[in-house]
Amino acid sequence: MRTVVIGAGIAGLAYAHARGEGADLIVLEAREVAGGLIRTAPTPDGHVELGPEALQDNAPETNALLDELQLAPLPSRAEAAKRFVLDAAGRPRALPSNPSAFLRSPLLSWRGKLRALSEPFRARDRALDGSVADFLRHRVGREVVERLVDPAISGIYAGDPELLSARACFPAVVEMVERHGSLFAGLRARGRERRAARAAGTARAADLASAASAAGAAGGESSSSAADAASKGPALLSLPGGLQRLPEALAERLGARLRLNTPVAGLQRDAKAWRIQLEADALTADELVLAVPAPVGARLLAQIAPSLSQQLASMRAENVVSVAHRWARADLAHPLDGFGVLVPSSLGKRHLGTLFSSSIVPGRCGDEHVLLRTLLGGARRPELVDAPDAELLDIVQHEVGELLDARAGAAPNWSLITRWPNALPRYDLEQPARQHAIDAALAELPGLTILGNHRRGISVNALIANSRETAREHAAGAGAPSADHANPASHAHGDHDA
Ligand SMILES: Cc1cc2nc3c(=O)[nH]c(=O)nc-3n(C[C@H](O)[C@H](O)[C@H](O)COP(=O)(O)OP(=O)(O)OC[C@H]3O[C@@H](n4cnc5c(N)ncnc54)[C@H](O)[C@@H]3O)c2cc1C
Repeated sequence: MRTVVIGAGIAGLAYAHARGEGADLIVLEAREVAGGLIRTAPTPDGHVELGPEALQDNAPETNALLDELQLAPLPSRAEAAKRFVLDAAGRPRALPSNPSAFLRSPLLSWRGKLRALSEPFRARDRALDGSVADFLRHRVGREVVERLVDPAISGIYAGDPELLSARACFPAVVEMVERHGSLFAGLRARGRERRAARAAGTARAADLASAASAAGAAGGESSSSAADAASKGPALLSLPGGLQRLPEALAERLGARLRLNTPVAGLQRDAKAWRIQLEADALTADELVLAVPAPVGARLLAQIAPSLSQQLASMRAENVVSVAHRWARADLAHPLDGFGVLVPSSLGKRHLGTLFSSSIVPGRCGDEHVLLRTLLGGARRPELVDAPDAELLDIVQHEVGELLDARAGAAPNWSLITRWPNALPRYDLEQPARQHAIDAALAELPGLTILGNHRRGISVNALIANSRETAREHAAGAGAPSADHANPASHAHGDHDA
């Protein structure tokens, strides 16, 4: 066997698919289903996501993959563009989405707004390698960090902005400041680029329309709406039946080249090949792609590559608990007209935030109900992953119920709890140096590649992009990946758009 991929999460599956149908390759997955953290479960009147809720629709590699798999995306409802954050009094308030909404927003004091608006005058070079909190405290001030950044970070990373590296989490944002001097200048430059792209798209659409009408067909409309879409920010997408359709479709394409229920127990290496120890037998491979969580990689590499193993073992990850809960529509007064509501840690609540699942995409439950998902745990309260069901449901009924104006005594009429221990890697201050050290160690181990959400981006879009680019490089290399292109740093697709 030429290539063995270990782990059929999205990173391993997207890699294997992109190597092409003819590749001499096999994917080994410990569990009985493919998809890793991407999971969808049935509910009495629809379905619910247990891991990722939705993807941003602006990722070219994801869109290309969906096309290849002939999966039609399910666009989010327009109202899902709106996000809520709890204000200092614990009331959900819309997150401002433009400058005038920012000036009117009750989420920040005037002092906080003025401090944020002075961002272009802050020193360019300070805190670039600090924590997300340090970096943004310097640029936009303490209040924005406490009231907006802190809840957003718990929504993306289940993390604490004081512990996460700005450069590792948001490389494009840090680069924007390095390049343009400030976030304001960088955003203005991006706006100019978008307008130029839109003008080019409109000109192209006009060309296509006149070409189409010359040919007697009505062809311009989709091109001009594509140009319109390109000028707006990203929206969200899911799939009919849920996001699990994506790993299922990848698994179907792989067919017998995917082996489920096949945990890898150990690895050995001699001068020529990798030996992959399974429970009952063993395989050999020229190329090995590890697409497993960091602690599993650390264990498998402990004997062969101790320093690489230590780097992987040094990475911590956040526990996350997802509680899906369905209510009678009439029992919640809040209109739920948005993506969800995030909770700043300063309020001392026991949950991180709640997704309004049935408002994000259609078909999640019947009209007389609403389906929500509350996320708990993270860096703030990791111990909740071991809390009894009754405690978690009590938080949902009372803490979440109160902020969504639940009728007195009302409770969810259905719920589903999913515990994800060590699910989201913590991109801490060591992460940039750690990734360099991992790259350096891999350079000494040709034929070994490491993919997954502990490398360069935790979002499904980032993972798909990194895996596909790596696979294309390996395929083009027409041989065991050399040290130069096994894990190129320049291929990072961080979570900067998150
Ligand atoms: C609650 C939650 C919400 C999220 N929300 C979003 C979101 O809205 N949008 C977004 O983009 N991302 C979101 N994410 C993040 C995203 O889902 C993950 O980062 C991504 O799915 C991880 O993919 P992966 O392939 O790196 O790892 P995994 O999905 O963890 O896959 C690793 C695979 O390796 C297998 N494995 C482990 N050990 C072995 C072994 N010894 N032998 C063989 N196989 C093994 C595992 O069984 C697993 O299938 C969310 C994550 C969680 C937990």
